[in-house]
Amino acid sequence: MKRCFEIDQFDSPETLTRRLQAVTPAAVERSLSQADLDEKDLVNLLSPAAEAYLEPLARRAQAITRRRFGRIMKLYVPLYLSNECINTCVYCGFNRTQRIARKTLRPEEIQEQAQFLSSLGFRNLLLVSGESRPHVPVRMLADQIAALSADFPEISVEVYPLETREYAALQQAGLYGLVLYQETYLPEVYAAVHPSGPKHDYHARLEAPQRGAEAGLRQVGLGVLLGLTDFRLEGYYLGQHVRALEKIYWQTAFGLSFPRLRRAAGGFQAPAPVSDQQLTQLVTVLRLFLPDAPFSLSTRESASLRRHLLPLGFTQMSAGSCTEPGGYGHIQASGEQFQVEDTRSAREISADLELLGFEPVWKDWDASFREEPAEDAPAKNS
Ligand code: SF4
Repeated sequence: MKRCFEIDQFDSPETLTRRLQAVTPAAVERSLSQADLDEKDLVNLLSPAAEAYLEPLARRAQAITRRRFGRIMKLYVPLYLSNECINTCVYCGFNRTQRIARKTLRPEEIQEQAQFLSSLGFRNLLLVSGESRPHVPVRMLADQIAALSADFPEISVEVYPLETREYAALQQAGLYGLVLYQETYLPEVYAAVHPSGPKHDYHARLEAPQRGAEAGLRQVGLGVLLGLTDFRLEGYYLGQHVRALEKIYWQTAFGLSFPRLRRAAGGFQAPAPVSDQQLTQLVTVLRLFLPDAPFSLSTRESASLRRHLLPLGFTQMSAGSCTEPGGYGHIQASGEQFQVEDTRSAREISADLELLGFEPVWKDWDASFREEPAEDAPAKNS
Protein backbone atom coordinates (compact mmCIF):
# COMPACT_ATOMS: atom_id res chain seq x y z
CA MET A 1 0.00 0.00 0.00
CA LYS A 2 1.45 3.35 -1.04
CA ARG A 3 0.96 6.04 1.60
CA CYS A 4 -1.47 8.58 0.15
CA PHE A 5 -0.62 11.48 2.47
CA GLU A 6 2.70 12.89 3.71
CA ILE A 7 3.07 16.23 5.44
CA ASP A 8 6.20 16.84 3.29
CA GLN A 9 3.95 17.15 0.21
CA PHE A 10 2.71 20.47 1.62
CA ASP A 11 4.16 23.68 2.97
CA SER A 12 6.16 23.30 6.18
CA PRO A 13 4.53 24.57 9.41
CA GLU A 14 6.83 27.63 9.29
CA THR A 15 5.92 28.55 5.70
CA LEU A 16 2.26 27.87 6.35
CA THR A 17 2.32 30.08 9.45
CA ARG A 18 3.75 32.93 7.37
CA ARG A 19 1.07 32.45 4.71
CA LEU A 20 -1.70 32.40 7.32
CA GLN A 21 -0.45 35.61 8.90
CA ALA A 22 -0.26 37.37 5.52
CA VAL A 23 -3.90 36.75 4.51
CA THR A 24 -5.93 39.97 3.97
CA PRO A 25 -9.69 40.59 4.44
CA ALA A 26 -10.04 40.86 0.65
CA ALA A 27 -8.56 37.36 0.23
CA VAL A 28 -10.95 35.99 2.87
CA GLU A 29 -13.94 37.52 1.06
CA ARG A 30 -12.77 36.08 -2.25
CA SER A 31 -12.52 32.59 -0.77
CA LEU A 32 -15.89 32.91 0.94
CA SER A 33 -17.50 33.41 -2.47
CA GLN A 34 -16.01 30.22 -4.01
CA ALA A 35 -18.30 27.25 -4.60
CA ASP A 36 -15.47 24.71 -4.10
CA LEU A 37 -12.51 25.49 -1.91
CA ASP A 38 -8.97 24.91 -3.17
CA GLU A 39 -5.73 24.91 -1.19
CA LYS A 40 -5.42 28.72 -1.17
CA ASP A 41 -9.00 29.10 0.02
CA LEU A 42 -8.32 26.71 2.89
CA VAL A 43 -5.39 28.88 4.01
CA ASN A 44 -7.39 32.08 3.62
CA LEU A 45 -10.35 30.86 5.65
CA LEU A 46 -8.25 29.32 8.42
CA SER A 47 -6.27 32.54 8.83
CA PRO A 48 -6.51 34.98 11.75
CA ALA A 49 -8.02 37.50 9.28
CA ALA A 50 -11.01 35.16 8.77
CA GLU A 51 -11.93 35.27 12.46
CA ALA A 52 -13.90 38.44 11.67
CA TYR A 53 -16.08 36.46 9.22
CA LEU A 54 -17.57 33.85 11.53
CA GLU A 55 -21.15 34.84 10.68
CA PRO A 56 -20.89 34.28 6.91
CA LEU A 57 -18.78 31.17 7.49
CA ALA A 58 -21.46 29.76 9.80
CA ARG A 59 -24.25 30.58 7.34
CA ARG A 60 -22.49 28.79 4.47
CA ALA A 61 -21.52 25.79 6.60
CA GLN A 62 -25.07 25.41 7.86
CA ALA A 63 -26.52 25.61 4.34
CA ILE A 64 -24.08 23.01 2.98
CA THR A 65 -24.76 20.64 5.87
CA ARG A 66 -28.52 20.96 5.50
CA ARG A 67 -28.33 20.40 1.73
CA ARG A 68 -26.03 17.37 2.01
CA PHE A 69 -27.33 15.67 5.18
CA GLY A 70 -30.78 17.14 5.86
CA ARG A 71 -31.82 17.40 9.53
CA ILE A 72 -30.65 14.02 10.73
CA MET A 73 -28.41 13.67 13.76
CA LYS A 74 -27.07 10.18 14.37
CA LEU A 75 -26.64 9.23 18.03
CA TYR A 76 -23.89 6.90 19.21
CA VAL A 77 -22.44 5.87 22.52
CA PRO A 78 -18.91 4.86 23.50
CA LEU A 79 -18.36 1.64 25.42
CA TYR A 80 -14.97 1.63 27.17
CA LEU A 81 -13.53 -1.90 27.18
CA SER A 82 -10.28 -1.24 29.01
CA ASN A 83 -8.20 1.59 30.44
CA GLU A 84 -4.96 -0.40 30.24
CA CYS A 85 -2.44 1.34 28.00
CA ILE A 86 1.23 0.85 27.17
CA ASN A 87 1.72 4.39 25.84
CA THR A 88 2.81 7.51 27.67
CA CYS A 89 0.86 10.30 25.93
CA VAL A 90 1.54 13.22 28.23
CA TYR A 91 -2.01 14.60 27.96
CA CYS A 92 -4.00 11.47 28.80
CA GLY A 93 -5.49 10.08 32.00
CA PHE A 94 -4.93 6.47 30.80
CA ASN A 95 -1.17 7.09 30.29
CA ARG A 96 0.66 4.04 31.70
CA THR A 97 2.49 6.17 34.27
CA GLN A 98 -0.78 7.41 35.83
CA ARG A 99 -1.74 5.74 39.08
CA ILE A 100 -5.37 5.04 38.35
CA ALA A 101 -7.47 1.95 38.99
CA ARG A 102 -7.07 -0.20 35.86
CA LYS A 103 -9.80 -2.39 34.51
CA THR A 104 -10.43 -4.53 31.44
CA LEU A 105 -13.98 -5.76 31.02
CA ARG A 106 -14.51 -9.51 30.80
CA PRO A 107 -16.64 -10.69 27.83
CA GLU A 108 -19.70 -11.13 30.06
CA GLU A 109 -19.23 -7.59 31.43
CA ILE A 110 -19.04 -6.20 27.88
CA GLN A 111 -22.28 -7.96 27.02
CA GLU A 112 -23.92 -6.67 30.20
CA GLN A 113 -22.86 -3.07 29.49
CA ALA A 114 -24.02 -3.40 25.88
CA GLN A 115 -27.41 -4.77 26.96
CA PHE A 116 -27.81 -1.76 29.21
CA LEU A 117 -27.02 0.61 26.33
CA SER A 118 -29.33 -1.32 24.00
CA SER A 119 -32.15 -0.95 26.56
CA LEU A 120 -31.64 2.84 26.35
CA GLY A 121 -32.26 2.65 22.60
CA PHE A 122 -28.69 2.84 21.24
CA ARG A 123 -27.93 0.90 18.03
CA ASN A 124 -24.67 2.66 17.15
CA LEU A 125 -21.77 1.62 19.38
CA LEU A 126 -18.17 2.84 19.57
CA LEU A 127 -15.88 0.31 21.31
CA VAL A 128 -13.04 2.24 22.95
CA SER A 129 -9.93 1.11 24.78
CA GLY A 130 -6.47 2.25 25.79
CA GLU A 131 -3.76 0.84 23.57
CA SER A 132 -2.79 -2.59 24.85
CA ARG A 133 -2.96 -5.59 22.56
CA PRO A 134 -2.46 -8.10 25.40
CA HIS A 135 -5.51 -6.74 27.24
CA VAL A 136 -7.70 -6.20 24.15
CA PRO A 137 -6.49 -8.63 21.46
CA VAL A 138 -7.89 -8.55 17.94
CA ARG A 139 -9.41 -12.03 18.43
CA MET A 140 -11.38 -10.77 21.43
CA LEU A 141 -12.54 -7.69 19.49
CA ALA A 142 -13.73 -9.89 16.61
CA ASP A 143 -15.63 -12.20 18.97
CA GLN A 144 -17.28 -9.28 20.75
CA ILE A 145 -18.21 -7.50 17.52
CA ALA A 146 -19.78 -10.69 16.18
CA ALA A 147 -21.72 -11.19 19.42
CA LEU A 148 -22.89 -7.55 19.58
CA SER A 149 -23.89 -7.27 15.92
CA ALA A 150 -27.41 -8.57 16.48
CA ASP A 151 -28.24 -5.63 18.76
CA PHE A 152 -25.91 -3.02 17.24
CA PRO A 153 -25.95 -2.81 13.43
CA GLU A 154 -23.33 -0.06 13.51
CA ILE A 155 -20.19 -0.86 15.54
CA SER A 156 -16.95 1.11 15.30
CA VAL A 157 -13.68 0.76 17.19
CA GLU A 158 -11.34 3.33 18.69
CA VAL A 159 -8.39 1.19 19.71
CA TYR A 160 -4.69 0.83 18.78
CA PRO A 161 -3.79 1.02 15.04
CA LEU A 162 -4.28 -2.34 13.30
CA GLU A 163 -2.86 -3.93 10.16
CA THR A 164 -5.03 -4.02 7.04
CA ARG A 165 -5.68 -7.77 7.40
CA GLU A 166 -6.77 -7.22 11.01
CA TYR A 167 -9.22 -4.49 10.04
CA ALA A 168 -10.50 -6.84 7.33
CA ALA A 169 -11.00 -9.61 9.90
CA LEU A 170 -12.99 -7.25 12.12
CA GLN A 171 -15.00 -6.11 9.14
CA GLN A 172 -15.87 -9.75 8.45
CA ALA A 173 -17.04 -10.01 12.07
CA GLY A 174 -19.38 -7.04 11.52
CA LEU A 175 -17.26 -3.92 12.09
CA TYR A 176 -18.67 -0.79 10.43
CA GLY A 177 -15.96 1.77 11.06
CA LEU A 178 -12.93 2.98 12.91
CA VAL A 179 -11.91 6.16 14.70
CA LEU A 180 -8.25 7.05 15.05
CA TYR A 181 -6.88 10.51 15.75
CA GLN A 182 -3.43 11.55 14.61
CA GLU A 183 -3.48 13.94 17.62
CA THR A 184 -1.03 16.29 15.85
CA TYR A 185 0.39 16.37 12.32
CA LEU A 186 3.52 18.25 13.41
CA PRO A 187 6.22 15.58 13.75
CA GLU A 188 8.28 17.34 16.42
CA VAL A 189 5.27 18.05 18.61
CA TYR A 190 4.09 14.49 18.01
CA ALA A 191 7.42 13.08 19.25
CA ALA A 192 7.38 15.33 22.34
CA VAL A 193 3.89 14.40 23.52
CA HIS A 194 4.29 10.68 22.71
CA PRO A 195 7.71 10.06 24.26
CA SER A 196 7.59 6.25 24.30
CA GLY A 197 5.52 3.19 23.45
CA PRO A 198 4.25 2.12 20.01
CA LYS A 199 2.41 5.41 19.60
CA HIS A 200 5.76 7.17 19.35
CA ASP A 201 5.81 5.93 15.72
CA TYR A 202 4.26 8.88 13.82
CA HIS A 203 3.95 7.10 10.47
CA ALA A 204 2.44 3.90 11.86
CA ARG A 205 -0.41 6.03 13.13
CA LEU A 206 -0.66 8.23 10.05
CA GLU A 207 -1.19 5.18 7.82
CA ALA A 208 -3.86 3.51 9.95
CA PRO A 209 -6.92 5.33 8.51
CA GLN A 210 -5.76 4.36 5.04
CA ARG A 211 -5.35 0.73 6.15
CA GLY A 212 -8.93 0.77 7.47
CA ALA A 213 -10.22 2.09 4.14
CA GLU A 214 -8.10 -0.45 2.25
CA ALA A 215 -9.79 -3.16 4.33
CA GLY A 216 -13.18 -1.88 3.16
CA LEU A 217 -14.54 -0.25 6.32
CA ARG A 218 -17.55 1.95 5.60
CA GLN A 219 -16.51 4.85 7.81
CA VAL A 220 -13.12 6.03 9.06
CA GLY A 221 -12.93 8.89 11.55
CA LEU A 222 -9.93 11.20 11.81
CA GLY A 223 -9.07 14.12 14.04
CA VAL A 224 -6.46 16.05 15.97
CA LEU A 225 -6.31 16.81 19.66
CA LEU A 226 -7.06 20.51 19.72
CA GLY A 227 -4.90 22.45 22.14
CA LEU A 228 -1.58 20.69 21.49
CA THR A 229 -0.47 23.20 18.85
CA ASP A 230 -1.77 25.83 16.41
CA PHE A 231 -5.27 24.71 15.35
CA ARG A 232 -4.88 26.51 11.98
CA LEU A 233 -1.92 24.32 10.99
CA GLU A 234 -3.60 21.17 12.24
CA GLY A 235 -6.84 22.04 10.43
CA TYR A 236 -4.92 22.55 7.19
CA TYR A 237 -3.08 19.20 7.32
CA LEU A 238 -6.18 17.35 8.54
CA GLY A 239 -8.24 18.74 5.65
CA GLN A 240 -5.55 17.73 3.16
CA HIS A 241 -5.25 14.25 4.67
CA VAL A 242 -8.99 13.63 4.31
CA ARG A 243 -9.02 14.96 0.74
CA ALA A 244 -6.16 12.62 -0.20
CA LEU A 245 -8.04 9.65 1.25
CA GLU A 246 -11.34 10.62 -0.40
CA LYS A 247 -9.68 10.66 -3.82
CA ILE A 248 -8.69 7.00 -3.59
CA TYR A 249 -11.23 5.36 -1.28
CA TRP A 250 -14.51 6.79 -2.54
CA GLN A 251 -16.53 3.95 -1.01
CA THR A 252 -15.48 4.89 2.51
CA ALA A 253 -16.85 7.94 4.33
CA PHE A 254 -14.06 9.85 6.09
CA GLY A 255 -15.41 11.60 9.14
CA LEU A 256 -13.99 14.28 11.39
CA SER A 257 -14.09 14.87 15.12
CA PHE A 258 -12.87 17.96 16.95
CA PRO A 259 -11.74 16.88 20.42
CA ARG A 260 -10.38 19.67 22.61
CA LEU A 261 -8.01 18.86 25.44
CA ARG A 262 -9.91 18.29 28.69
CA ARG A 263 -8.95 17.91 32.31
CA ALA A 264 -7.64 14.41 33.00
CA ALA A 265 -5.47 12.60 35.53
CA GLY A 266 -2.00 14.17 35.55
CA GLY A 267 -3.26 17.75 35.10
CA PHE A 268 -1.71 18.40 31.64
CA GLN A 269 -2.34 21.98 30.49
CA ALA A 270 -3.09 22.67 26.81
CA PRO A 271 -0.09 24.55 25.32
CA ALA A 272 -2.28 26.18 22.62
CA PRO A 273 -5.86 26.35 23.95
CA VAL A 274 -8.57 26.66 21.30
CA SER A 275 -11.39 29.10 22.13
CA ASP A 276 -15.06 28.51 21.27
CA GLN A 277 -14.76 31.04 18.42
CA GLN A 278 -11.69 29.32 17.02
CA LEU A 279 -13.40 25.93 17.25
CA THR A 280 -16.33 27.42 15.33
CA GLN A 281 -13.97 28.74 12.67
CA LEU A 282 -12.28 25.35 12.28
CA VAL A 283 -15.55 23.40 12.05
CA THR A 284 -17.14 25.75 9.53
CA VAL A 285 -14.06 26.01 7.30
CA LEU A 286 -13.60 22.24 7.18
CA ARG A 287 -17.30 21.84 6.39
CA LEU A 288 -16.81 24.12 3.37
CA PHE A 289 -13.62 22.25 2.36
CA LEU A 290 -15.08 18.73 2.91
CA PRO A 291 -18.81 19.01 2.18
CA ASP A 292 -19.44 15.24 2.18
CA ALA A 293 -17.63 14.31 5.40
CA PRO A 294 -19.65 13.20 8.45
CA PHE A 295 -18.75 15.38 11.45
CA SER A 296 -18.99 14.10 15.00
CA LEU A 297 -19.37 16.07 18.25
CA SER A 298 -18.61 14.39 21.56
CA THR A 299 -19.68 14.97 25.14
CA ARG A 300 -16.31 16.65 25.77
CA GLU A 301 -18.13 19.87 24.94
CA SER A 302 -20.79 21.46 27.14
CA ALA A 303 -24.50 21.14 26.37
CA SER A 304 -24.81 24.85 25.53
CA LEU A 305 -21.87 24.86 23.12
CA ARG A 306 -23.07 21.66 21.46
CA ARG A 307 -26.48 23.27 20.84
CA HIS A 308 -24.73 26.21 19.21
CA LEU A 309 -22.31 24.16 17.10
CA LEU A 310 -24.55 21.32 15.94
CA PRO A 311 -26.26 23.09 13.01
CA LEU A 312 -22.93 24.34 11.63
CA GLY A 313 -21.70 21.04 10.28
CA PHE A 314 -22.36 18.10 12.56
CA THR A 315 -24.12 14.91 11.56
CA GLN A 316 -23.57 12.66 14.55
CA MET A 317 -23.03 13.05 18.28
CA SER A 318 -22.36 10.92 21.33
CA ALA A 319 -24.88 10.92 24.15
CA GLY A 320 -25.01 9.74 27.74
CA SER A 321 -21.28 8.91 27.63
CA CYS A 322 -19.24 7.37 30.42
CA THR A 323 -15.45 7.15 29.92
CA GLU A 324 -14.80 4.56 32.65
CA PRO A 325 -14.73 0.87 31.72
CA GLY A 326 -17.86 -0.74 33.20
CA GLY A 327 -19.33 2.61 34.20
CA TYR A 328 -22.81 2.35 32.68
CA GLY A 329 -25.46 1.62 35.27
CA HIS A 330 -22.84 1.29 38.05
CA ILE A 331 -20.72 3.46 40.30
CA GLN A 332 -17.17 2.42 39.44
CA ALA A 333 -13.77 2.89 40.99
CA SER A 334 -11.76 2.59 37.74
CA GLY A 335 -10.09 5.60 36.12
CA GLU A 336 -11.74 7.75 33.45
CA GLN A 337 -9.95 9.06 30.34
CA PHE A 338 -11.25 12.63 30.58
CA GLN A 339 -14.15 14.49 32.15
CA VAL A 340 -17.40 14.61 30.24
CA GLU A 341 -18.92 18.11 29.99
CA ASP A 342 -22.37 17.29 28.58
CA THR A 343 -23.79 15.04 31.29
CA ARG A 344 -27.40 14.92 29.99
CA SER A 345 -28.98 11.50 29.44
CA ALA A 346 -29.43 10.17 25.93
CA ARG A 347 -33.21 10.72 26.12
CA GLU A 348 -32.73 14.33 27.27
CA ILE A 349 -30.36 14.96 24.37
CA SER A 350 -32.75 13.31 21.92
CA ALA A 351 -35.65 15.47 23.13
CA ASP A 352 -33.48 18.58 22.91
CA LEU A 353 -32.48 17.72 19.34
CA GLU A 354 -36.13 17.60 18.36
CA LEU A 355 -36.67 21.01 19.94
CA LEU A 356 -33.78 22.30 17.82
CA GLY A 357 -35.40 20.95 14.66
CA PHE A 358 -33.22 17.86 14.20
CA GLU A 359 -34.34 14.31 13.65
CA PRO A 360 -32.44 12.10 16.12
CA VAL A 361 -31.46 8.84 14.44
CA TRP A 362 -30.67 5.82 16.62
CA LYS A 363 -30.21 3.43 13.68
CA ASP A 364 -29.53 4.12 10.01
CA TRP A 365 -27.48 1.14 8.88
CA ASP A 366 -28.13 -2.56 8.65
CA ALA A 367 -25.75 -5.28 7.53
CA SER A 368 -28.33 -6.35 4.95
CA PHE A 369 -27.62 -3.05 3.10
CA ARG A 370 -24.07 -4.21 2.41
CA GLU A 371 -23.50 -4.78 -1.29
CA GLU A 372 -21.38 -7.74 -2.23
CA PRO A 373 -18.78 -6.68 -4.83
CA ALA A 374 -19.50 -7.90 -8.35
CA GLU A 375 -17.14 -10.66 -9.43
CA ASP A 376 -15.69 -8.53 -12.20
CA ALA A 377 -15.33 -5.41 -9.99
CA PRO A 378 -11.91 -3.74 -10.44
CA ALA A 379 -9.37 -4.30 -7.67
CA LYS A 380 -8.65 -1.38 -5.31
CA ASN A 381 -5.47 0.62 -5.60
CA SER A 382 -2.74 -0.58 -3.29
S1 SF4 B 1 -4.29 8.77 24.41
FE1 SF4 B 1 -4.71 6.63 23.99
S2 SF4 B 1 -2.70 5.75 23.60
FE2 SF4 B 1 -2.34 7.67 24.67
S3 SF4 B 1 -2.19 7.13 26.84
FE3 SF4 B 1 -4.32 7.68 26.39
S4 SF4 B 1 -5.34 5.76 25.95
FE4 SF4 B 1 -3.13 5.42 25.78
